Amino acid sequence: MITPVLPTYARADLEFERGEGPYLFTASGERYLDFGAGIAVNALGHAHPALVSALTEQAQKVWHVSNIYKIPGQEKLARKLVDATFADTVFFTNSGAEALECAIKMARRYHFVGGAPERNELITFEGAFHGRTLATIAAGGNKKYLEGFGPDMPGFVHLPFGDMKALEKAITSATAGILIEPIQGEGGIRVLPNEDLRKIRALCDEAGILLVLDEVQTGFGRTGKLFAHELAGVTPDIMSVAKALGGGFPVGACLATENAARGMTVGTHGSTYGGNPLAMAVADAAVSMMMQEDFLAHVRSIGVKLKQKLAGLVDQHPSIIEEVRGEALMLGLKCRITNSDLVQALRKEHLLTVGAGDNVVRLLPPLIIDESHLDEALEALDRACTALEAELAQTSAKAAGGAQ
Ligand SMILES: *Cc1c(COP(=O)(O)O)cnc(C)c1O
Repeated sequence: MITPVLPTYARADLEFERGEGPYLFTASGERYLDFGAGIAVNALGHAHPALVSALTEQAQKVWHVSNIYKIPGQEKLARKLVDATFADTVFFTNSGAEALECAIKMARRYHFVGGAPERNELITFEGAFHGRTLATIAAGGNKKYLEGFGPDMPGFVHLPFGDMKALEKAITSATAGILIEPIQGEGGIRVLPNEDLRKIRALCDEAGILLVLDEVQTGFGRTGKLFAHELAGVTPDIMSVAKALGGGFPVGACLATENAARGMTVGTHGSTYGGNPLAMAVADAAVSMMMQEDFLAHVRSIGVKLKQKLAGLVDQHPSIIEEVRGEALMLGLKCRITNSDLVQALRKEHLLTVGAGDNVVRLLPPLIIDESHLDEALEALDRACTALEAELAQTSAKAAGGAQ
């Protein structure tokens, strides 16, 4: 019999009653160190006092008004984002996928109003993840997510990840832009080299097409910069963000230059909830903290320490982990065993992590962790790897026994 909750997730048998900083607690009081952070969402940890008070203060004033009225919280946060980034304008959404939908529509519309409506294709990359709406599964091109949901939406061209030669050849008179994650998250913490991102920027400029970055997972300090594209020293024309933006309150945004947004005039796009006062109050409080240079410096220094410690772990457990990759606090452990076995073994050690493509386990801790949390995580990782090694030894002993 089907469960009341649509069974589209293979959920772990684990539930949490409350959270505090980087920890989650079950109803019976068991404590877990959360290095998944709701998939890079709880960047400021759980129940951050400043976010709690921003939410509760706004909740006593007004929760929701339609976008047919001015929303001061939107204007304030948009100004803050515009001042801190390449962007001149912002559209607020409720999720990452909606932020991508806005980005895709904006890229097409840019060429439409420019007199080139035939430029309606976005080039995307294998291993990408842009969300679960019809357009974003088509953009991602992952067969697992497309199967049975056809007809596939046209308008996306998929190239092998990081194949710059193929990219140069793929740009045609039908190309509207290039859509890419600076670091693939769901795809397995696959880092696009900075020189490749610079090359992609140059290709876009030459062809008169738009660079659309999906920074839903990489954005807001995760890589030690406010946005990952700063690491490459280039800026996009359009950028979608979400996840950490609300620190746990559902909110996303599509940022753009004035030029890229030229087609998005009155009546072309909208959302009932997008940018509602509650979301704006929390996101404004979150962004204010995440934009501080000392906050970002902390992410960089703690990220370097974590990566160093993980490199040591790889040396100690080479039969379990092959390599560490990623930037600052967006790190992946490429496994030699099945990645979900490591996630499970870590859960037994009360360390929460997230699986990803390419047989990777993601470590996406809240950005507020300190060294004591690193040590706690490393101890759990060491114990889990030791337990998995013992299992491996047992299986191979059994196999050897069976062969005699
Ligand atoms: C999570 C994610 C999305 C989708 O965000 P939702 O809020 O789940 O719709 C899109 N792109 C990237 C890179 C993501 O990590």
